Amino acid sequence: MNKVTTDVLIVGGGPAGMSAAMAASANDDVRITVVDDNPRMGGQIWRAELGKIKSVEAQKLIALFDQEWITIVNNASVFARDGNSLLGETPRGAIQIEYNKLILATGARERFIPFPGWTLPNVFGAAGLQALVKGGLDVLGKRVVVAGTGPLLLVAAEYLASRGAQVVAICEQTTNRKLDKFALGLWRSPSKIIQGISLRSKLRGVPYYRNSWVSTAHGESELRGVTIQHFGKTAEVECDMLACGFHLVPNIELAQLLGCAIVDGFVAVDDYQQTSVSNVYCAGEPTSIGGVDAAIVEGKIAGFAATGQFKQADSLLRTRKKTTAFAKSLHQAFELRDELKTLAASSTVVCRCEDVQYGKLAEYDDFRMAKLQTRCGMGACQGRICGAAVEFLFGWNDRSVRPPIFPVQMENL
Ligand SMILES: Cc1cc2nc3c(=O)[nH]c(=O)nc-3n(C[C@H](O)[C@H](O)[C@H](O)COP(=O)(O)OP(=O)(O)OC[C@H]3O[C@@H](n4cnc5c(N)ncnc54)[C@H](O)[C@@H]3O)c2cc1C
Repeated sequence: MNKVTTDVLIVGGGPAGMSAAMAASANDDVRITVVDDNPRMGGQIWRAELGKIKSVEAQKLIALFDQEWITIVNNASVFARDGNSLLGETPRGAIQIEYNKLILATGARERFIPFPGWTLPNVFGAAGLQALVKGGLDVLGKRVVVAGTGPLLLVAAEYLASRGAQVVAICEQTTNRKLDKFALGLWRSPSKIIQGISLRSKLRGVPYYRNSWVSTAHGESELRGVTIQHFGKTAEVECDMLACGFHLVPNIELAQLLGCAIVDGFVAVDDYQQTSVSNVYCAGEPTSIGGVDAAIVEGKIAGFAATGQFKQADSLLRTRKKTTAFAKSLHQAFELRDELKTLAASSTVVCRCEDVQYGKLAEYDDFRMAKLQTRCGMGACQGRICGAAVEFLFGWNDRSVRPPIFPVQMENL
């Protein structure tokens, strides 16, 4: 096994992790190691397009990562802990990294809510389809319905249109009232207003339905069209692809494994992004879903605080207050409506790994019994997809975590 020792270990090379590394590196005396499970740094938002990104902040971070005093370990999934070290799996075998300070910047994933047909080929997550296109998938001329909830719907729709897809409709499940309240609250973040206006103008001509969701995806071997609900009416829409995601779910499994306190589904942190476990910090989406600006400022605070640069961390607290308020408003605006709980039919698959249908799960009162009897959440993704779904559908939120948090080859275990 390859063994590495570092002063500051950062898990996750997205905007939060990269910013943490930048801040920590202002202290010349520390060795920094960043581990990420993807072949390239940049996280969900930048990874596929590093080098082409216009954001000045991103350019600074990318330049920093070319410096040799930060050790980067790509293609490494951290799956367990061993005392003051973490264990990861790389294509070259296992790696053990011992640290003094640890910063968790593990990001988030999309939330999926099951409805009839959601497992058909050509049904994707909204951000997931965008990520696939960034990675080379061709959508030229494809008719795409974008649905679900959250600001990522517009981002994804605009990106898909820019790559030649014909976006047929955007269906946002939240209400007019919540969206209007969210838009009014944006006066505190002018850059977000500009981004919103720019996205809407680029999507001019694409129908944008509020109070609307996909209730069924139709097709035999692949998607042919969808049924859309809109203000109590239904409409059939033909399409080649459905991009459907219901906001994001934080990746908190590693924090849970380390014993960090979790409050309302997020890692609890103090002003300096310190978790309830000493010397363990957390930044970005695991602490709240607040977008890239929140991830960057939290990453910087964590990096500064972990390396004793408290004055620099203090100078960012006001900015973080704003990003935290924005995250809260996102949460309120895009809360899932109860009607989505009624979409799945008895035969709709909820746990794709273990092929468990809604009707089977409905026989149980809690996740533990459902797991024991049906294996729901015990497949390869370890409940990362169905866990959030059953939490919404049945109110089961007793997801426990144990190592390895990702499937690992026997020889590395
Ligand atoms: C699929 C997807 C696409 C998105 N696309 C956009 C977009 O185009 N525009 C936008 O504004 N926002 C996008 N977002 C939202 C975006 O994630 C946030 O705005 C923000 O960038 C989050 O930054 P972060 O550093 O907290 O997390 P992330 O960018 O998610 O970075 C976390 C990194 O940690 C890695 N990781 C997690 N666990 C481990 C582990 N155990 N071992 C090793 N590595 C690990 C992840 O693979 C990831 O690379 C997207 C989100 C998702 C889920």
